Amino acid sequence: MSAGAPAREVLAVKYGYRVTTRAESYLNFHLYGEPDTDLDIDYYFWVVRDGRGVFLVDTGFAPEVGDRRRREHCTTPAEVLPDLGIAPEDVTAIVITHAHWDHTGNIGQFPHAQLIMTEAEYAFWTSPLAARGHFAAHSEPEEIALLAKARDSGRLTLFTGEHTLAPGIELTEVGGHTPGQLIASVATPGGGTAVLASDALHFYEEVERDRPFAILADLPAMYRAYDTLAQLATQPATRLVAGHDPLVRTRFARYAPARATSETGAASGIQVTDLTRPQVP
Ligand SMILES: [Zn+2]
Repeated sequence: MSAGAPAREVLAVKYGYRVTTRAESYLNFHLYGEPDTDLDIDYYFWVVRDGRGVFLVDTGFAPEVGDRRRREHCTTPAEVLPDLGIAPEDVTAIVITHAHWDHTGNIGQFPHAQLIMTEAEYAFWTSPLAARGHFAAHSEPEEIALLAKARDSGRLTLFTGEHTLAPGIELTEVGGHTPGQLIASVATPGGGTAVLASDALHFYEEVERDRPFAILADLPAMYRAYDTLAQLATQPATRLVAGHDPLVRTRFARYAPARATSETGAASGIQVTDLTRPQVP
């Protein structure tokens, strides 16, 4: 990064929530012999901003889709980004970690951004199998069609395995939860790494107690993804960022904007977490 360039910011924006249950969230929960209890689930998208541009990691769900699926929502990317001093047209690229409905909404808010996802994910969701009940329940055909349109217009990059999005932003295909689920490892100022696990890790318990999530495409791949994440977490100053876990907001600090903006995220009431600043327990 050139001298004087702003330090990289890595943010989790909580845009929705719901109360679910453990039995609904963990695969074959009855195997654990524990009583079922409520479980809070957060919905996030992620923002990486540095001197090179603004990258979004996923775009949340569309409000009307959330309403139909009875999820509470607080904002969308185009609504909240100005509060963070980001104009929607500043977003240069959007990483699609996987093509479930709560990650592919609102892409139409960014008609000029480059999109990037795995080849396996794109191929699956545009294949006949994606229409089968247990897969179709988690996608929005109109949003998949937007991805296909972006591909036709040369705006969608597909990769297999590993891809460097920008210096210090590495994308890794892990599969498991969906056929081409990816994670993003983002270097943070001071030598750390925030691993945006998205739905390779909905809740920290999945890795910490080895409990697969209930929605999946490939159980062996999901276990291998947990191994990959657990291995990453042993690296110095490397921290996992779970995709739907309210604990993200206690394991990392609340975002306090360094640069002056007329309004801040705090002013909008939206909870924004600074993934470059872990909270010491
Ligand atoms: Zn999700």
